[in-house]
Amino acid sequence: MKILISEIEKKENKKDILNFSEIIEEFNNEKPVTAKLEVEVLDTTIILTGKIHAEVNLTCDMCLKDFTKVLDFNVKEAYTRYNLNEGYNAEYEVKSNNFTEDLNGSDEIDITDFIYQCVILHIPNKLVCDINCKGDEKLSEYLNTTKTDPRLEIFKNIKIEKDK
Ligand SMILES: [Zn+2]
Repeated sequence: MKILISEIEKKENKKDILNFSEIIEEFNNEKPVTAKLEVEVLDTTIILTGKIHAEVNLTCDMCLKDFTKVLDFNVKEAYTRYNLNEGYNAEYEVKSNNFTEDLNGSDEIDITDFIYQCVILHIPNKLVCDINCKGDEKLSEYLNTTKTDPRLEIFKNIKIEKDK
């Protein structure tokens, strides 16, 4: 889904509500990612706010099984039409936050890409299928039966003398 800022500007209050529903292949899930976003044009700044729902198929780091992670979160992002570094609209430069993306004069925003990036940011670094996941049995068995470092064997024979 792509939107044109010039089209949003023609709407009442320069606002529009987008109902997004698309399957994003990278998430390996047959259910579409859905979102309800409000787009508002304020001079040279375009603000996107709303909710995103995504189901992403991932592989558990612990047991190596595939699982589905359901993500529901709010987003708020600002785009600016012009390059802030070129001295346009200094007042927006001051107000802008870290999330401001530069469109470099483009009239188009790729909403699919925006949502994709938002979902990626919400996927945790450590992927665990369940809080009770005990990990892969064969893998943990292997880790438990591997021999201890022979350099550490010496400590087994050390007798600690207690103070009398
Ligand atoms: Zn697991």
